[in-house]
Amino acid sequence: MSEILNSKVLVLNRSYLPVHITSLRRALTLLYCEIALAVDCEYRTFDFRAWRALMPEGDTVGLVDRTMRVPRVILLRGFDRVPRREVRFSRFNVYARDRGQCQYCGRRFPRSELNLDHVHPRSRGGASAWENVVCSCVGCNRAKGNRTPGEAGMRLVRSPYRPQWTPFVVDTYRQRRHADWMPFLSVTETAEGLGVANG
Ligand SMILES: [Zn+2]
Repeated sequence: MSEILNSKVLVLNRSYLPVHITSLRRALTLLYCEIALAVDCEYRTFDFRAWRALMPEGDTVGLVDRTMRVPRVILLRGFDRVPRREVRFSRFNVYARDRGQCQYCGRRFPRSELNLDHVHPRSRGGASAWENVVCSCVGCNRAKGNRTPGEAGMRLVRSPYRPQWTPFVVDTYRQRRHADWMPFLSVTETAEGLGVANG
């Protein structure tokens, strides 16, 4: 039961743009409190009562008196903002942008084995910003030390950049793809998520 409640639900704003991924537990609360509507694969929306009345099929969740179909996509009713153009600079989002790949040796590592590296060293005035921070494995981090890549004779796999997409959506989407999300993720995001495009 708790496993299904922790499973992921895609959150759309009123323009049907993906803005977030949340747990089913939270999604049900939003639905019940009339903050969100459930969306089916034909883009139809349902309030809690209408959704509960649907025939249970696919993944289901047990309520007090009956079994309910699990909504995999919800739509916020009062959320007018389009997704922020500015993707928040954070550790998590840098990992997502670089997809767990050390930007010096090109190898992939679990998050716990990656550091964030200031390309132009922080101690020498390098900014903590999208354009100056990359994922680096411990070995490369040590080899580079307090130098620029040029000084250390190292090359970046890819110059760090400010992403336009929402890394959060792409990253989580890679971990567990729900077919029901597909129509709501843009072609670019879908390709990123599947590892097809390399941007
Ligand atoms: Zn490395």
